[in-house]
Amino acid sequence: MGAGLSGLACAITLEKNGITPTIYEKRSKVGDRFVNGEILLSILIRPVYDSIATLSEEFGIYLKPTSNIQEMVLFSKNEKTNIEGRLGFTNIRGRDKDSFESQLEQQTKSVIHYHSEETYEQLLRKHSHVVIATGDGDYAKEHRNFREDLTVSIKGVTVKGDFDRYTVMAWLDYDIAPYGYCYLIPFSEKEANISLAIPDYPENADIIFGAHFMKRYALSFNRKYE
Ligand SMILES: Cc1cc2nc3c(=O)[nH]c(=O)nc-3n(C[C@H](O)[C@H](O)[C@H](O)COP(=O)(O)OP(=O)(O)OC[C@H]3O[C@@H](n4cnc5c(N)ncnc54)[C@H](O)[C@@H]3O)c2cc1C
Repeated sequence: MGAGLSGLACAITLEKNGITPTIYEKRSKVGDRFVNGEILLSILIRPVYDSIATLSEEFGIYLKPTSNIQEMVLFSKNEKTNIEGRLGFTNIRGRDKDSFESQLEQQTKSVIHYHSEETYEQLLRKHSHVVIATGDGDYAKEHRNFREDLTVSIKGVTVKGDFDRYTVMAWLDYDIAPYGYCYLIPFSEKEANISLAIPDYPENADIIFGAHFMKRYALSFNRKYE
């Protein structure tokens, strides 16, 4: 269930082991309509150092990232710091021919049924095993082996301009993102995502995550970026 990264990677792995699964995806295509830049930071996946190389060498799953991150710029309210090195990769998600979903879709031979409305229980009547890869904890919550302690609201925009594909930026500044963070991920020389992630704490309940807030945020962003 689900033709996201997990579902597609699972299908590719099953195929390598002589099992041909059927994939059920509720969308009309793989990937969200919002094309989104993501980062794979090496520091977060220890003891693996190079996620892309590990996926190909150990699992036969081939992903081409958008770029290697060579610099990360972090802004707090009053300070700025730069981290340089082989920090990881940027990649694209969503309905783009180079997105990770599109790349995985090309590597699977399994049939994908789009517009699927079938539940886990319905699929279990048709198949011996069902792998749930729906990207959320709904079924796990029902079976009580998963607890959701905190949710985070994320709002993102795609901006056009001149960007260095090898540099990502993050703002840990409560004026911009109370208790959360904001980040900029370029996915070409001309386009980047700016996203704002704010935990759904009671203190943040009054924040209007709409046009007014984005305007204020854009103004703050320009000030910091300059
Ligand atoms: C805004 C945002 C930014 C992120 N940034 C990063 C980042 O920079 N780096 C990083 O490592 N991670 C990031 N993540 C997390 C990353 O996107 C997820 O960890 C990853 O997508 C999980 O993959 P998945 O296959 O489990 O789920 P998903 O990619 O969500 O795929 C689930 C699929 O299942 C389908 N589906 C759902 N319900 C059903 C159903 N009932 N029947 C059939 N199909 C169904 C969905 O349509 C979807 O195609 C970010 C997430 C968000 C939302």
